[in-house]
Amino acid sequence: MLSNHIRSWGVTALIALLPCSLMAQQEPTGLAQPGTARVEDALHLLPPDATQTGGLLGDRYEKNAVARLLNVDETELLEGFRHKPGKQAWIGEHVGKFLHAASLAYAGTKDPRLKEKITRVATELMKTQEPDGYLGTYTPSTRFGLYPNADWDVWVHKYDLLGLLTYYQYTGDKNALAACRSVGDLLINTFGPGKKSILSAGTHMGMAATSVLEPIVLLYRATADPRYLDFAKYIVSAWDEPNGPKVKTSLLTEKSVRKTANGKAYEMLSNLVGLCELYRATGDRQYLEPALIAWNDVSKNRLYITGSGSAGEHWQDDYHLPNGNNASICETCVTVTWEQLNLQLLRLTGESKYSDQLERSVYNHLLGAQKPTGDAWCYYTPLQGTKPYGNSTNCCLSSGPRGVALLPTFVYSSTGDGVNVNLYTPSKSMVDVGGEPITVEQKTDYPTGGTVSLTVSAPANSKPFALRLRIPGWSTHTRVALNGGPVTVAPQPGEYLALRRKWRSGDRIQVTFDMSPKLILGDHENAGKAAVMVGPLVLAADEGHNPECKPIARCEVAGAGEDTSKFALVAAGGSKNSGPVYEVSTRGAAKPLRLVPFYAAGSDGSPFAVWLNRPGQRRAAGASLLSFGEESRSAEGNQSGSITDDDPSTFVVTFNDRKQEEAWFAATLPQPATINRVVFCHGRSFHDGGWFDTSAGKPRVQVQKEKGGKWEDVAVLESYPDSTAVKTGVGLRDGAAFAVKFPAVKAYAVCVSGRPASGDNPAQSFASCGELRAFYDR
Ligand SMILES: [Zn+2]
Repeated sequence: MLSNHIRSWGVTALIALLPCSLMAQQEPTGLAQPGTARVEDALHLLPPDATQTGGLLGDRYEKNAVARLLNVDETELLEGFRHKPGKQAWIGEHVGKFLHAASLAYAGTKDPRLKEKITRVATELMKTQEPDGYLGTYTPSTRFGLYPNADWDVWVHKYDLLGLLTYYQYTGDKNALAACRSVGDLLINTFGPGKKSILSAGTHMGMAATSVLEPIVLLYRATADPRYLDFAKYIVSAWDEPNGPKVKTSLLTEKSVRKTANGKAYEMLSNLVGLCELYRATGDRQYLEPALIAWNDVSKNRLYITGSGSAGEHWQDDYHLPNGNNASICETCVTVTWEQLNLQLLRLTGESKYSDQLERSVYNHLLGAQKPTGDAWCYYTPLQGTKPYGNSTNCCLSSGPRGVALLPTFVYSSTGDGVNVNLYTPSKSMVDVGGEPITVEQKTDYPTGGTVSLTVSAPANSKPFALRLRIPGWSTHTRVALNGGPVTVAPQPGEYLALRRKWRSGDRIQVTFDMSPKLILGDHENAGKAAVMVGPLVLAADEGHNPECKPIARCEVAGAGEDTSKFALVAAGGSKNSGPVYEVSTRGAAKPLRLVPFYAAGSDGSPFAVWLNRPGQRRAAGASLLSFGEESRSAEGNQSGSITDDDPSTFVVTFNDRKQEEAWFAATLPQPATINRVVFCHGRSFHDGGWFDTSAGKPRVQVQKEKGGKWEDVAVLESYPDSTAVKTGVGLRDGAAFAVKFPAVKAYAVCVSGRPASGDNPAQSFASCGELRAFYDR
């Protein structure tokens, strides 16, 4: 630990000689030439090696470096550059993302194996650069806008630039800077007024291409060459061309990311990160304003409780936040780019609402998407269902490690007159404050525990400075003690508490946050449900910890009714992998329900749910009348899903390895309901069945008009696709919904029944169901 600090201070001492008005410690966002920023940042991120992190963050950080980045397949990264065309349109992005993440990780760990690897990958990548600067995976006939509808060529160059600039910063390899200049010059020669429009070379209305804005500004900062700054301004002006995405002008007028361009979340956030860089370089407020508007809109209307956004990779309507696997929510690329936008705005403004969001994202969605072993990531991470970890190359597997590699850069930050503590985690940091080396050390079991002990060390005779502690917005009552005594300023939730004094070595601060469990009542699509938070952690019920409670999405939390003061949570141990475990009583169940942090939930493959049912609550407006109904089916099957949990991805089957003449799925209500429409969601098709064979007739909808009475046909599900015992019908996707209307009827129970299919194994047959819903349309 100590040797890293010495190295860190060696670098700092060199940089301190530069005639730079900014901080002496170079930020991890690219080496900057003096005079290339017109805006002085409110606070500065620290070099990755200035802060050593332990605890949960340190564990995940180390696993990211060792289990993921050291093991990335270099040949696959470089294949598309060596043998053009690459096997897929954006395959070239991975090498730049790797170089960005692994260069940061090398700077933080000083692991010589990482240094060898990044040097080899960068050198091999640069060998494929063509004399005109081209550094992509396309053949000449498809380059830069000549590959209509699937053009990711500029996008790939964006990641080349981000990766090589970071590699240059931490290795000093000047060839990398020269390669970046050459890429920048090629882009300038190709696009601009009187040349090709950059919009022609990017999908998502051009946003994929224009997100090169961020590294173009960083290239300007690294070189002070004004041509790159001019090109950055051109990129922004191109948005307003006919059919352009109008990112800036649309956000200024509509104030909605949903209504801007095509709403593609990752590409839009990437452009906003670039706008923040352009604001920093120019001081022109028109570049900052759209980013602030987008942040407000996302955080108020479109952010999941776990700190990420998007469904199907796009921003959705206000408060439309589906939870399940089928909705493809919270792409990891979106989580990481949201982290980067918050970092930009934190640097520019110093406001703690951005570090509050960083805490929410990091401790919940970012670590929730990373497998605890560090070697795999979720592409989408649901709030209900299962975590689909994978380690085959895709955009998110390349993005996630960048988000984790950034962590040590913002646990602390420096300001002109002090140190900010942004994240709480066991850690030690050396921060340059006005040329004085200040050490801050945190001892804590945060985020599980809420007590943090900080020790400050400053050289004798150092000037007074401020230590600013982030008081999280969720911590209603925070206690702060300095050397065992009270402090004169009162901590305010959602603000930094500034302690300004002449610090002496060994000064101690103890902070105690309000870790009382909070019940967050759901609204809109989560109406009637509640989520539980303890400190910064969103909790989830995980079936692996509650084997008697299946399906997990239907469990109810007692004390989560109208009177939430009855809600009580009990700590019940835990382990390194599960994190803390809590218990809460459940209505009618013999055993309490066990909750674990979302970051650990489902990490062994078991289903989990964040939003839990509140007893006696009415269904959400527009919800199925069968929600919470009692389920039954013709055979128990071997899937632990639910057909009344509003999530078609949690399906059930009637599989029992036998030939079945009929299969049915039913939901029974305690009180009768009037219905005139039923929706049946297909579960999943397997090689040996899982669907209805319609050759002798489509599935039938039946109801019980008396409690426990006979089943009566009310409709035939004509929209169910034609299929046979061996072949599924056209359009029978997993989770696909089929509806039928019929004259209103009062029903105690609803059932869909038909002949199950056998696929390639005629010795048996079975059907599946993802969801059975009923409605009354007036
Ligand atoms: Zn992605």
